[in-house]
Parts: sequence; structure tokens; C-alpha cells
Amino acid sequence: NVSVVLFTSDLRLHDQPALRAALDRSDEVVPLFVRDPAVDGAGFAAPNRLAFLADCLTDLDAGLRERGGRLVVRSGETVGEVGKVVAETDALDVHMSAGVSGFARRREERLRTALESSGTRLHLHDTVITAVAPGAVTPASSDHFAVFTPYFRRWSEQHLRDGLGAPRAVRVPEGVGSEAPPSRADVSGVSAGLADGGETEARRRFTAWLRGGIDAYGDRHDDLPGDATSRLSPHLHFGTLSPVELVHRSRRAGGSGAEAFVRQLAWRDFHHQVLAARPAASSADYRTRHDHWRSGPGAEEEIEAWKAGRTGYPVVDAAMRQLLHEGWMHNRGRLLTASFLTKTLYVDWRVGARHFLDLLVDGDIANNQLNWQWMAGTGTDTRPNRVLNPVAQAKRYDPDGAYVRRWVPELAGLDGGAVHEPWKLQGLDRAAFDYPEPVVDLSEGLARFKHARGRD
Ligand code: FAD
Repeated sequence: NVSVVLFTSDLRLHDQPALRAALDRSDEVVPLFVRDPAVDGAGFAAPNRLAFLADCLTDLDAGLRERGGRLVVRSGETVGEVGKVVAETDALDVHMSAGVSGFARRREERLRTALESSGTRLHLHDTVITAVAPGAVTPASSDHFAVFTPYFRRWSEQHLRDGLGAPRAVRVPEGVGSEAPPSRADVSGVSAGLADGGETEARRRFTAWLRGGIDAYGDRHDDLPGDATSRLSPHLHFGTLSPVELVHRSRRAGGSGAEAFVRQLAWRDFHHQVLAARPAASSADYRTRHDHWRSGPGAEEEIEAWKAGRTGYPVVDAAMRQLLHEGWMHNRGRLLTASFLTKTLYVDWRVGARHFLDLLVDGDIANNQLNWQWMAGTGTDTRPNRVLNPVAQAKRYDPDGAYVRRWVPELAGLDGGAVHEPWKLQGLDRAAFDYPEPVVDLSEGLARFKHARGRD
């Protein structure tokens, strides 16, 4: 008998419960990936993610071939394509990892209904995309946690299943037609410094992280020029690494750095459980603050300056240019650029979230939309009116200015922390730098925001 394994956000062979269950129950399996135009149409696809996805699929196919199998790639509407493969192979079971977003869950429901009408069962496997499944821990009075600290306490107490090794052999029935996996070279508009995708690269990076990196993570994760975070986020987004495996292996590594790293993995699960319980939070305010966000020509100009990395605030511009160049941005940069857009410029978080999703290789509905809401104060932050001052942030997290000089070469001639306040230069000294004046005065921005929120 034959089972189909539908790969989605879990493009790996290690710790892959859906694949393991299919192999345990069937003689032959069809590892299937469907390139669905509805996913692109819903705005989840962007050049950087399409390029990274191409790497992941190529690597997954290679890994399956080493085990005697191959990846079957089809293009079309997911439910219809799975139905065709099931009909071609007389498959009795379809296995896949349980999704979290509203989009993923509606797709699962349609698939279940369509398959059942032809006598095929859909099996959904959880703790594949997150370490702790959304809804597995809840407070007494709600279907999800709205505050991280109590969530993290309960999350930490959960018994995680053992991680699974990669299968030794995969037998795919003969004659199942497939397209060639897509190639990164066919995607245009990709950021020049985009990282490589695929499970092989993910595992190499994680092993290197455990050997170096992780020990200093607790002290250095906010260090902008030090770039001392794991950069595993795209791999977690595409599921080339298993969060369960990451937690187990980090805990085994031990130490305060590993503890701090595991805590960040819990933040990821936290946002996923919020989104699973409140799918509308992908576009609607999780908690409204009755904001009247600025719009119109003045705001448009400032938004364009923010996107291009030309706000006149060097650390904001450095981070926005890192995003353009790498399709990735340091977490401290994400926080301060999001605060700048939503609180200093007082522009709707959805504008910023969209721009991030257009570029981020790890762009993820749960993490992106809910982190944006957190920073905008419409989400789960218990201090919704906090504002990050970009100059104070720069002096704290880039004291010597090395991060700014890396990304804003126009200012490379300014030494040390002076690079953070070019407006302090006078006359000809200032004119020597082809760099814009600040788009807004910080105290004016703050006064406007306080007035709009009516407090603090
Ligand atoms: P590390 O510091 O090494 O952390 C390890 C892992 O923990 C990350 O890979 C990530 O999976 C998880 N993690 C860390 N911080 C967070 C967090 N605050 N929320 C959720 N998970 C976290 N992360 C995304 O994966 N996709 C996004 O689209 C995304 N958008 C963001 C938008 C804004 C405005 C902000 C403030 C944060 C966003 N983040 C997002 C969270 C965080 O910035 C990135 O996960 C992190 O910078 C990735 O780098 P890293 O892998 O080196 O992280």
C-alpha cells in the first residue's frame, strides 16, 4: 500500500513525524511538494523566500535520492494536486504536519473533506512546526496565553517527544510524474546577500552554532555589529530544522547561552499559539488602541524614506539596508525600526509588516505579524506605549558605530559613536556627507504619539 506525505513548512528528513508514520505503515510513499499559486497569491511568496525554498526543495530531493527515493513536485491547487496523486497511486493515507495560520488550517479542512469522499484518510502531525503544539498549554480562563512569561513557565515544563532520526530508505512507487525542483537561479529580485537554504546547510549551521556561538548568546544577542545570533530563523521558517531537536540539543549543550536561546524558541511557539487561537491577528489588531495612524502624502514620503534606509537616523537606516541587502535583519534592528515606524512616525504596523514580508527570508505570518503588533502596542506587549529612542538604542547596542558604518557607507568617515548623530556636525563638515537630514524630530514624534494614544 501507498501513503502520500505532503511537505509544507517542514522541508526536512530528520525528525519528520509525518514521513516516519507513512514509512511505518506503508510499503511505498510519495514525498510530495505542491507549488500552489494560492500561496503566492496570498502574499506568502516573495523572491527571497522563493529562492530559499528552491534550495530547500533541491536539497530535500537530493536527500531522498540518497535513500533510494525522490521528491515529487507538482504545480497547482493543493487539494486538487494531492487528489490526483492519490488517484494515480491508490494511496489510502495522506500524512502532513499540522499548520498554524488560518490559511493552512482552511486548506487542511478542504483537503480532509476532499480525501474522505474518496475513502482516503488525512493524518495531521503536530509538534513538527513548533516544539510545543499551539493549544497544548493554556491558562485556566482562555484558549491561549496573551502574556509570554506565564506561557514560558508552562512551556518549559512540557515533556517534549524524542526527536527522530532521518529514515534509512524511502521507496517511491514507479511512474509518478514530477516536475524538476525549482532552481534559485530562476528567481529574480533576490537580495544579493541572501543565505543558502536546505536541510544540509541548516544542520551544518546548527552544529556550528552549538560548537561556537551559543555559549555567548546570553550576553551578546543584542550586539548589533557582533552579529552573534544563530541566523537559524529561515531554517525554522521552512522547517529544515526541527524545533523539538533544537530544544533537546541546546539543553544538552547546557549553560546560560543555551537557556537564553531556548527561551527565544519559546517566543516563536508563543506567537504561533496566539495566531492559532486568533487567526484574524494576522491583519486585524489583536488589541485595538483606537489608533488613527497617519497617512497621506507627508506620511507616504516618510514611509518611502524608511523603506529605502534614508530616514536620517543612521541606525534605523543601517537596519533597513541590511534587510534590503540580506533579506534578513538582526532582531534589535527589527525592534527599533518597527518602533520608529509605528511610534515615531505613527504609521500603521500593517505597512511595516507588509514591507518586511516582501523581503524577509524568514518572513512568517505568526512571528512577523505578532512581533509587529507587539512593537506597535496593539499586540501582547504589556507595555504597549513603550517607544525605543533610535539614538539611545544606537549608543547602547552599537556603541562604537561599527554596524552603522557597515551598512551606511556614506558615514564611514565618522569615527566612533559620532556616526549616530551626523546632524550635530556643523557647516562644511556636515555638507561633506551625502546623507539626509532626519525625516522627523524625535521629540515632535514622541509628543504626537503620546497625544494620539492619550497617555504616558
Ligand atoms: P536567534 O536570536 O538566534 O533566535 C533563535 C530563534 O528563536 C530564531 O531563529 C527564531 O525562530 C526564534 N525567535 C527569536 N526571537 C523571536 C521573537 N521575538 N519572536 C519569535 N521568534 C523568535 N522572526 C521570524 O522568524 N520571522 C519573522 O517574520 C519575524 N519578523 C519580526 C518582525 C519584527 C518587527 C520583530 C521585532 C521581530 C521579528 N521576528 C521574526 C523575530 C526575530 O527578530 C527573528 O526571529 C530573529 O531576529 C531571527 O534571527 P536568529 O535566527 O539569528 O535569532
